[in-house]
Amino acid sequence: MSSQNIIKNDVLTLGIDIGSTTSKCVAVKNGGQIVGKALIQNGIGTTGPQRALQQLFDSSGISLPDFAYVIATGYGRFTCDTANSEMSELSCHAKGARLLFADVSTVIDIGGQDAKVMRIGSGGVLENFAMNDKCAAGTGRFLDVMARILELSVEDLGETGNQSTSVVEISSTCTVFAETEVISQLARGTNRIDVVAGINKSVASRVSGLVKRVGAVPLVVLTGGVAQNIGVRSALETQLGVPIHISPLSQYTGAIGAALFAYEIACR
Ligand code: ADP
Repeated sequence: MSSQNIIKNDVLTLGIDIGSTTSKCVAVKNGGQIVGKALIQNGIGTTGPQRALQQLFDSSGISLPDFAYVIATGYGRFTCDTANSEMSELSCHAKGARLLFADVSTVIDIGGQDAKVMRIGSGGVLENFAMNDKCAAGTGRFLDVMARILELSVEDLGETGNQSTSVVEISSTCTVFAETEVISQLARGTNRIDVVAGINKSVASRVSGLVKRVGAVPLVVLTGGVAQNIGVRSALETQLGVPIHISPLSQYTGAIGAALFAYEIACR
């Protein structure tokens, strides 16, 4: 058992979020305290989920039999043998966001392959949502493709774009056409920083269209891997006209929610 002040009567639960792009695990103590986390940059259909679990066990000192209940969520939740049950990403993101920001009303989740907007009512109930899982534009996939063309890592897109003073408009709404547009901008000698800013703005524009279907009721929280892109976040703030909050644990939000639901089941 872990050395992290875990005593015999503590109830440990585990959330596993198997995404399209990454695998995340979070261990929670007594339905409120995060005592372990792990992230692997491979998602569904890979060894990512198993490696994320192993990373969590190794780093926390907690092993599978120590958990009272395990819930899987995410796109790959039905492929998880380790979990006792599975739960939808929407419910888990709403639940996890409430632990990170108690006053949250709107959650914007931008993951590797989709984007979701959730309205959280009083008591944390999911009241409404909108989702884009049909088109790569407005998701992390778009940023991953563009980063490759620009020979940058996705981690650098935010800071790089925010240095721009002359944002390039990316007019194509399709990722494939936008890729061609970016390449032709670079061929024309356009400043790469301005192109990066245009890429971040393009994702924000697609997502803000989705947000407007649900309404950006404060407090607005951005989750998922793309929350770490400060360029997308600031462009979203400009387009929606509200402050957007992020947590250092933004990418773990779904796994946190899954672990919290697991606690509720374990305590029944
Ligand atoms: P999923 O759960 O759908 O697998 P995630 O929520 O983990 O996806 O988000 C993955 C996406 O987040 C990647 O496609 C990438 O664009 C983006 N991303 C991941 N890490 C970072 C980072 N450090 N900075 C900026 N963007 C990131």
